[in-house]
Formats: sequence, C-alpha cells, structure tokens
Amino acid sequence: MEKQYIAAIDQGTTSSRVIVFNELGLVVSSQSKEFKQYFPKPGYVLHDANEIWESVLYCFNKALKKAGLEPEDISAIGITNQRETTVMWDKTTGEPIYKAIVWQSSQTQEISERLIDNGYHDLFKEKTGLIINPYFSATKIKWYFENVKEANDLANDHNLAFGTIDSWLIWKLTNGEKHITDYSNASRTLIYNIHDLKWDEELLKILEIPNSILPEVVPSSGINAYAAKEVIGAKIPISGIAGDQQAALFGQTCFHKGDAKNTYGTGCFLLMNTGETPKHSENGLLTTIAWGIDGKIEYAIEGSIFVAGSAVQWLRDGLKIINSAEETEALAKQTKSNLGVYFVPAFVGLGTPYWIEEARGSFFGITRGVTKNHIVRATLEAIAYQTKDVINLMEKETGINLKVLKVDGGASKNNFLMQFQSNILNNVIRRPKIFETTALGACYLAGIGIKLWAKEDLVDMWKLDETFSPSMKDKERTELYRNWQRALRACVAFADKENY
Ligand code: ADP
Repeated sequence: MEKQYIAAIDQGTTSSRVIVFNELGLVVSSQSKEFKQYFPKPGYVLHDANEIWESVLYCFNKALKKAGLEPEDISAIGITNQRETTVMWDKTTGEPIYKAIVWQSSQTQEISERLIDNGYHDLFKEKTGLIINPYFSATKIKWYFENVKEANDLANDHNLAFGTIDSWLIWKLTNGEKHITDYSNASRTLIYNIHDLKWDEELLKILEIPNSILPEVVPSSGINAYAAKEVIGAKIPISGIAGDQQAALFGQTCFHKGDAKNTYGTGCFLLMNTGETPKHSENGLLTTIAWGIDGKIEYAIEGSIFVAGSAVQWLRDGLKIINSAEETEALAKQTKSNLGVYFVPAFVGLGTPYWIEEARGSFFGITRGVTKNHIVRATLEAIAYQTKDVINLMEKETGINLKVLKVDGGASKNNFLMQFQSNILNNVIRRPKIFETTALGACYLAGIGIKLWAKEDLVDMWKLDETFSPSMKDKERTELYRNWQRALRACVAFADKENY
C-alpha cells in the first residue's frame, strides 16, 4: 500500500493535539499544546477561540515536522473536538465577538431554569434527545444575544456565525469559505432535531435564535471542505468530523448495535451504539447521533459517571495512602477479597441513575482487619460497580444487550480494575493498543472519507492490547452487586436528613 498520512486534530477542553497517522492507522507523530482557561466570574468557564485556533496550527506544524512531512504529504484531515462549547464570530472579519463559552460553564443556569419553568423540558428532550442544561450550546447562544450587543447587530445584518469548535476550526482552516458542522456535533446543541435531521424551527423560535447564524450540517465522513493552501501550506481535504465521545466510539470500532465503549478518566464516559433508531431514556441517559455516514444515521445512548479516576486521585492527594495511581493495581491484587468493604464515591452526589445531589461519599463494612489495600480495592471496585449501574440502565431502557465493552482512558490501564469489571458485568472487555481513541476515530472517519479504507477494514486495523473475560461464579457476582446496592441505599439514607 502506498504511503499515506492523515492528520487528526483533537481539540480538547484543556489542550489541543494533532496526531499524524499512517495508512495502517498507526501513530507516526504527535504534538499537543495547552491553552488558557478563563474564569472571570464564579461558574464561568471561557476559552479564547483565537488561542484555540493558534494552538491547533502550532500542533499541526510541529507534528508534521516531527514526522519529517510537508503539508502536501497529508492526504486528509480529521477533526474531533470538545463538544457543545460555543463560538460566535463576525462572518466579515472572522473575529469572535466574545470568548467561547465552554461546555462546563454554568453561566447559563438562569436561562436554563427559565426554559424549564416555562414547561419546555419534554419538548426539548423529545426533539433533541438531550435535557435542558447549561452544558449544551443552545442556552449559550441565547446568552450571547442577551449579553453581547454586537451579537444582535451582526445577526440583523446576517453577519453572525455560530459554531461548535469543529465549525470554528473549519472556518479558519478554509479561510472563511465553509461554515459547517457534522451530525454528531449538531446533536449536542439542543436545537437540532435528531429525528428530522434539521435545525428545529420550533426550538429556534422559543429561543429567538435566527436561522442565519447556523452552520450547514454535513456527514461525519466524506470530503466536506478543503483546508486552504494559504492557511496550512497545501490544499487538504477535511474528510472526518465528530464530537470527542462519538469519535472515541468510532475509534473503538463500536459499529454494531450493542457495542459500547467506556472511557475511564477523571469520570467515566459510556456510549453504546443503538443502531439506526434513537432510544430515549427516562433516567438521565442522553440520546445522541453517533455519526452520519453515506446517508445513514446511527445513534448512541450516553451516560456518565462523575467520580472514577478522581477517587484514585483522592487516595493519593487527599488520604495520601498511595504514591501513584498505577500502584493501586498491585495493592488491590494483594488482597484475597474485598473483606466486605464497599465505597460509594459520591463526592459530588449520585448521578445516573440515582440523581441525588445531597449524597456524599461513604465507606461501608469496615472491620479491624481492613487495611489500606482493602480501601484501595474498594475504590477500584466502585468504578466497576458504577459502570455496571449505567450499563444495566442502558440495557433496560434500550432493550439492547451489551455485546462487547471496549475501554480506554487512564484508569483502563489497571488490570485489576478491568478484570473485576469483566467479572461484575459478566461481559468480555477489550482494551486497545492505541489509547488515543478520540484522535483515532477522527483519523478513521477522515480515511473512510477519502476512500483510503472501508469501514470493514477498520475492524482489522484496530489493534487489541488485551481481552478480559469473566471468571467469576454467578453466585459471587450476584452477592457482590447486591451488597453494592445495599451500600448505595445506605448512602442515600444518610443524605435524607428529613426522614432519618
Ligand atoms: P482525564 O482525561 O479525565 O484527565 P485520563 O484518561 O488522563 O483522565 O486518566 C487519568 C485518571 O485515571 C486519573 O484520575 C487517575 O487517577 C486515573 N488513573 C490513571 N492511571 C491509573 C491506574 N493505573 N489505576 C487506576 N487509576 C488510574
């Protein structure tokens, strides 16, 4: 096969990264750069969109240099990005009218509450698969109109553009030629109808958002634009676009209904492919577009866990009973059992499927024989139990059984955790060699987009590091999980100040 290179731009919340992959889907070089976070008021989280663009350009040039490549050696560009973060810019000057409002920013809490108070919860959920929450782009767009005068003036002249980070980067890469976004990113805005595949007129009207500011929605894979020679040194097709979690799902080749991936980082991000039908949840899971390719839309259901790897960080930095996160694997392996110890790491309340804000972290079952190693073990096991809680809910609400769980993220390196996860789920777990599954997903989408690969080729290209298969007796699994649920109920009881 002829040598080919794909540059995957992975624009994250704290840093940007460009990874150059070759025709086999292997990493050739990589460069990342952090950029500044702005917190001007409590709850506000902002980015400078120009700084983001410059960090991407810097990484692109450096990554190519490290690989000894010139821009014309790059066959395609793939883009994956922090989702929901909102940029508004002047179409004539290309300048952002204010800083980008980051997904984490809660500055639109009041706007969200207003919408909920007006009884719009169900309408937005039905049409977009999401809940009304400051995370998503719609209330952020509204915020610009309520707080930045220029937004209204420019919109009146049809000179205002809205975009998530993918749109912004493509605008810059194409020198202002293209104002587009892909299905997966559009599905995180809270104004995109995931059934009709249109910006939703009714929702736009409620929010008083003009149609003229919206990007055109294009497939996640396929040549949608060309990066301009005067911008990056060669005319290069931009042939893959997806939001970060969807890109990771793609990078893990979760192409079939029931395929899921879990990213074990600070928290956990779980996505399950639900095929060509969107599945709605009554318990806080989100419905989203996984990708749209060749006229076919596939959907995913998404759940998150607030505290996962951060509980391990707490053992290290708060309790100071370990020196490094890596050490937890050996310490947990030194125990014969959990000795009846369960840890509910509800540092910031309980999320899916419980939704109890007042809950706090609790240990259960401590006896005189419990050592540091049992505390460590209970912490790792808690990550696995929480994952099982979310997967159980996904299975129940979608009627789809988990086929295979692919894993990534820092804590997925922990073999004890992965084996326990497999045991408690009673499912096979596969861990890939390439951990940068987000960038890999952007690379795969871009490669398919220029017909370098077919989707089927990717399944063979995806390289397995290790498989974990269940090796626990049903009785033990049932008993452990029942005890976890008892611990949860006790934790919830402690949060209930009125009745106890
Ligand atoms: P994020 O992208 O959310 O910052 P990463 O994917 O980099 O997260 O993973 C880092 C998290 O994983 C940290 O919270 C850390 O405590 C945890 N972690 C890293 N390595 C291990 C390990 N070997 N065992 C358990 N937890 C780990």
